[in-house]
Amino acid sequence: MVKIERSFPAPSSLAKEAAKKNGSYEKPDVVEQLKEDFHNKCYICGLKNLQDPQVEHLLPHKNGKYHERKFDWNNLFWSCGHCNGVKNQRKYDFGILDCCKIDPEQEIIFRLKQNDIELLSRADIPDAETARAMELIMEVFNLKNTGLRVYKSDMRLKELQKEMNLLFDNLEKLKEAPASGILLQKLRVLLKRESAFAAFKRCYVKEHLSDYPELTAFIQ
Ligand SMILES: [Zn+2]
Repeated sequence: MVKIERSFPAPSSLAKEAAKKNGSYEKPDVVEQLKEDFHNKCYICGLKNLQDPQVEHLLPHKNGKYHERKFDWNNLFWSCGHCNGVKNQRKYDFGILDCCKIDPEQEIIFRLKQNDIELLSRADIPDAETARAMELIMEVFNLKNTGLRVYKSDMRLKELQKEMNLLFDNLEKLKEAPASGILLQKLRVLLKRESAFAAFKRCYVKEHLSDYPELTAFIQ
């Protein structure tokens, strides 16, 4: 999870649809703007180029019970179906950290361990929204309570491992050729917030910055 710059004004269909009895929050202007703002990446798991994107509500509208939440641009997020499904549990009803307002990298340390992820709060005691975001991210990589979730959680972990290996390969090469322009360009792209699983990669480099001082500008 990384900081997202949400663009304004809100897509114009939202106000119009909110005034209707059975309005939709998924008109093309909303979908296109969310896809672009979120770099077509699930804001929860970090998977890129989603095949099954969904418009997710940070605070659930509960089948329209909370009408204003349903069409509130600030409450609409871009997620994959897996994460949206996992988040649909009562314990997340009060929302999770809002990555459009707060930089998750300032709150959470993201690490890939041997065969799991590890998330640590930067504060001694995380606030409730950060704690719930951490619990949710752990779940989307680990929850295996249905056959499909075994597959989907595993797939995300494997994709994350692949992306981290790509980073490690390039970091290894950088040690041998610290002034290589091509390598630095590759690493700059790999460490962009737009990239897949960016929080994990950026966090790794931050934690090993003394080994790679030339990458400082890429993780700002
Ligand atoms: Zn996801």
